[in-house]
Amino acid sequence: MSVTIELNCRETHGRILYLPLERSSLEEVKMTNYKTNVGNVEIISLTDGQGSGSPTSIFPESNLQEWREYPNLMDGDGNIHPRYGSVAVSSRNHLIIVDTGIGAPDGTLLAEMIRKGVDRDLVDLVVTTHMHPDHIGWNLTDGRPTFPNARYLIPRLDWEYWTSPSILDQSPHVRDQALPLESLDVLDLIDNEYAITDELTTISTPGHTPGHISIVIVSGRDRGFILGDVAHSPTQAHFTDWSPSFDVDPDIARQTRHKILDRLEHDGDLVSSGHFPNPGFGRFVRTGGRRIWQAI
Ligand SMILES: [Zn+2]
Repeated sequence: MSVTIELNCRETHGRILYLPLERSSLEEVKMTNYKTNVGNVEIISLTDGQGSGSPTSIFPESNLQEWREYPNLMDGDGNIHPRYGSVAVSSRNHLIIVDTGIGAPDGTLLAEMIRKGVDRDLVDLVVTTHMHPDHIGWNLTDGRPTFPNARYLIPRLDWEYWTSPSILDQSPHVRDQALPLESLDVLDLIDNEYAITDELTTISTPGHTPGHISIVIVSGRDRGFILGDVAHSPTQAHFTDWSPSFDVDPDIARQTRHKILDRLEHDGDLVSSGHFPNPGFGRFVRTGGRRIWQAI
């Protein structure tokens, strides 16, 4: 069973775009393979629901012929369902949530945390990759921090963009789920290459939003990468030029996507991707001359 709602998904260049969203019932959430490790860093995949839309409207540069190569990503009506994924990361005695999903009333993040043994009272850091509504939705509950013992880390450049008067005017989600963090005194604005722990460092990956960040994981000899919205679909492993309609600056986003996916393919890093199918763990690998997403 699923519920479809409508949400103001983003504003850009004065246009408001609406993306119909769909919430999975908890019964559909797989309880396998949701946990992985990069060295001593443990990552738990969490899902807050999923969106729904026509692939060619989400990716205007794509066509249906190309999508037919990916039947597993489409439902019977030809729609795709980007997941709203977060991760809980344990590193050096910190419990960190990266992104907080679409939020109430339909988001499943808090129930997922209970099912997967992640105690929200133990979360001491919440890291935001960027301030779109599907990434900050559970920052606050009834005006109070959903994670009562956490500092909230937000990239300074994204904060400056989303709180500028003309953008803020059209972004109620920022007013509701981000601005109060400042007066509640739980907000830390972070600059590029910020060391969350000595195993986790942010990296600037702009374009999708101006201050978008990803997270590099290095633990011992192992490497991982929390992608954020550098890519939204496994199809972009091959069709890397496709920019979704949500990119604030599609050209910069495209350059970033090429650079990061090339690097991840070359280095073979384990990748966590919030919008890819559950649980969103895998690698970008080349096979038969074509780069693909190899889920684990
Ligand atoms: Zn997103």
